[in-house]
Amino acid sequence: MNIREQIETLKELQRIETETVGIQSVLNGISDRMAVLETRLGEYQGRLRNQETQLEALKKEYRGMEMDAKDLQSRMKKAKGRLNTVKTNREYQALQKAIDEMKGENSRLEDDMLARLDRLEGAETELARLREDYDAFQKQMTDEKAAVSAEAANGEQKLGELNSSREEVARKADQRLIDRFQRVRRISTLAVAPVSRAVCQGCNMNIPPQLFNELQRFDNLHNCPHCQRIIYWDKPPEPDVIE
Ligand SMILES: [Zn+2]
Repeated sequence: MNIREQIETLKELQRIETETVGIQSVLNGISDRMAVLETRLGEYQGRLRNQETQLEALKKEYRGMEMDAKDLQSRMKKAKGRLNTVKTNREYQALQKAIDEMKGENSRLEDDMLARLDRLEGAETELARLREDYDAFQKQMTDEKAAVSAEAANGEQKLGELNSSREEVARKADQRLIDRFQRVRRISTLAVAPVSRAVCQGCNMNIPPQLFNELQRFDNLHNCPHCQRIIYWDKPPEPDVIE
């Protein structure tokens, strides 16, 4: 392999590497996205449970009030029955006063029960709304999960293809060239950088004129003196226009 061929091999290795890194970052993004969705689903569930608990508490309170009302009514009935049996005027008045008090209590209880019923209905409406939200989100999540797993499968397949390409390139190339690439690759995902107008495109620094001249002769492989990346001269497609 002459230097130009070696450079082409390195560029191919770099292309495979860059694409691999891109797909891996997409795959990582996918698991992050799934985690966010799971968290949000958990939040919906939490709100739903909370509302169910509140509703149960309200129902329990209401049942208690119903029992109180029944009890009060039966006491009132008994008291009214006793009105006919009392002997003295004083007893009659005392009993009538007790009945009036119970009536007042009953009317307050009825008001409370109506208010509680309002709250119960409000809580039921809210629960139904939360259930709808939860169902809608769950459906959205199912769709998203399907899309995401298709995307992940696609990414995994591409990774497999890139691995094959990498092996293919490595088989044809000299092991020392591969090692040289891997050494720089361990430092940076971009191991091979073009040099354009004497500027290394890996680190954006100027390279010395002497080195730039050597690059243009293609008789040796060079590393950038600043970032250590393997560099090659990126010959401009058209001659430079001097303004
Ligand atoms: Zn550099």
